[in-house]
Amino acid sequence: MNPLLEVSGVSVSFDGFRAINNLSFRIGRAELRAIIGPNGAGKTTFMDIVTGKTAPDSGSIIWDGSRRSVFARSEARIAREGIGRKFQKPTVFEEQTVQENLLLALKADRRPLAVLRYRASRPHLARIEELAGEVGLSSALQRRAGELSHGQKQWLEIGMLLAQEPRLLLVDEPAAGMTPEEREQTTAILVAAAKTRAVVVVEHDMDFVRRLNCRVTVLHEGAVLAEGSLDHVTADQAVIDVYLGR
Ligand code: ADP
Repeated sequence: MNPLLEVSGVSVSFDGFRAINNLSFRIGRAELRAIIGPNGAGKTTFMDIVTGKTAPDSGSIIWDGSRRSVFARSEARIAREGIGRKFQKPTVFEEQTVQENLLLALKADRRPLAVLRYRASRPHLARIEELAGEVGLSSALQRRAGELSHGQKQWLEIGMLLAQEPRLLLVDEPAAGMTPEEREQTTAILVAAAKTRAVVVVEHDMDFVRRLNCRVTVLHEGAVLAEGSLDHVTADQAVIDVYLGR
């Protein structure tokens, strides 16, 4: 089957500096992938390219069989296209309950007070319960998001992204600041999410990457340095030299 996303020979420069250098990357429709690499490797720029926020200077991006030609898309447009992006810091509506946050996400409404105007229909409630189950928050539906732990906020945000049914979920350092138990649960959430969609996780924590037990792409100087299982890439001399052996 065709990959969901196929990036071929993409380069991007900022003021003459090549942040992404002839990068190629592909991911299948139900695949979990970890991206690792030192600071400045181009991970953020890569995600900006995938979401259409940054236009490549050369190369092509095929999303679901079509060549991407329009860039500088809004977050809403990106979501409609089927890409969910989770930044490192959770952005949930602190004053609203978990249920209300998920309802707003289902309505694709970024105005927290709009929740007062929505009445969750029976199908909505069923979907909200399902989403809460997927991110381990079934028993927290009536809690205010502001009262949740850091890990729970991260899961809520993942649930809010899943509400929009992305075909590709991009997650930036989900394990940062989490307790060991929270990391374990985060692994389970991401592994389960990748059963029915593509999930790309940018992560520095090697223990966490090991738990994900997925294919790993190592970026360095804007290009793919190695790709394969974690054991494969961490045994690669080039990877040891630039990343692990520091
Ligand atoms: P990573 O996320 O792997 O740390 P980035 O994608 O943020 O790497 O950055 C890759 C390189 O591109 C870095 O050297 C960074 O300084 C540079 N860079 C990123 N964005 C810009 C920008 N808007 N203008 C100039 N340089 C940039």
